[in-house]
Amino acid sequence: MSKGILFNIQKFSIHDGPGIRTTLFLKGCPLRCQWCANPESQLAKIQILYHQEDCLHCLNCIQLCPTHALTHQDQCIHVDFNKCIGCLECVKNCPGHALSNEGEYKSVEEVVAICLQDLPFYEESGGGITISGGEGMSQPDFLRELLPALKKYNLHLAIETTGYVPEDLFHELAQMFDLLLFDIKHADSKKHQAGTKVGNELIRKNLKWAIEQHIEILPRIPVIPHFNDSLDDAKLIATYLKELGLKKVQLLPFHQMGEKKYQLLHRNYAYENTKALHPEDLLSYQQIFTDQGIDCFF
Ligand code: SF4
Ligand code: SF4
Repeated sequence: MSKGILFNIQKFSIHDGPGIRTTLFLKGCPLRCQWCANPESQLAKIQILYHQEDCLHCLNCIQLCPTHALTHQDQCIHVDFNKCIGCLECVKNCPGHALSNEGEYKSVEEVVAICLQDLPFYEESGGGITISGGEGMSQPDFLRELLPALKKYNLHLAIETTGYVPEDLFHELAQMFDLLLFDIKHADSKKHQAGTKVGNELIRKNLKWAIEQHIEILPRIPVIPHFNDSLDDAKLIATYLKELGLKKVQLLPFHQMGEKKYQLLHRNYAYENTKALHPEDLLSYQQIFTDQGIDCFF
């Protein structure tokens, strides 16, 4: 059986589809959104986090690393992720517990067993399993085995997707889900490119195809300061959704829950010190969708 690399399994999740759900967060994403709340999700490999305040500077980790991925500079351990193979020797043998890892390989069997622990809650609440990420479709071999194994138990399956997936692959995988939670970041491809490093042409094609196939879709807009939070942005996106015949949309206001993770990954964060948005900040934004006959909610 194939293994997937996951960075989180969240039980009793109530925001990622109907009912009570288990959300499986898979590593790997083709987008590089500047505001990403899960920067540890982007690379489809194990990542080592360094907590400098706990480091004893014993250099044990450097001596143990089989690929010479670690260096000590400026009183700080640096990880070269191009060399790291995720063996976790450094994490296991750090006397200060200054190293930890994001991402863990799990077999289909292991993941199914975890999901089944909450079967009565799914049945009671009309819930199920949601694949998230990163991009949930970024580990297709794993999904090809995992999804049928979950369906054996008649579980409702949802996926959070960026839609930025090669068309053939999207067509194959999307049909295996009961619900697509489809991210709409911007209707303007140039702006989409500026914020995420990819244009939106492929996403538009996949969304149109999924609508034509009558797959249930909930479009979701992460509302991000300086990217798509103006009323002009809202008008553009609302017009796009209306043209597609979509009747509902969920707004996901920008939050700052990912900030600390950038520090641990030693990465710059473009949205440092940017204020979070709240539903009360977005009432005029919401109204633009309502005026187009789209049920818009948070
Ligand atoms: S083994 Fe742990 S405590 Fe020692 S230098 Fe490496 S990170 Fe720091
Ligand atoms: S996980 Fe293994 S390869 Fe990666 S830095 Fe630690 S010891 Fe080196």
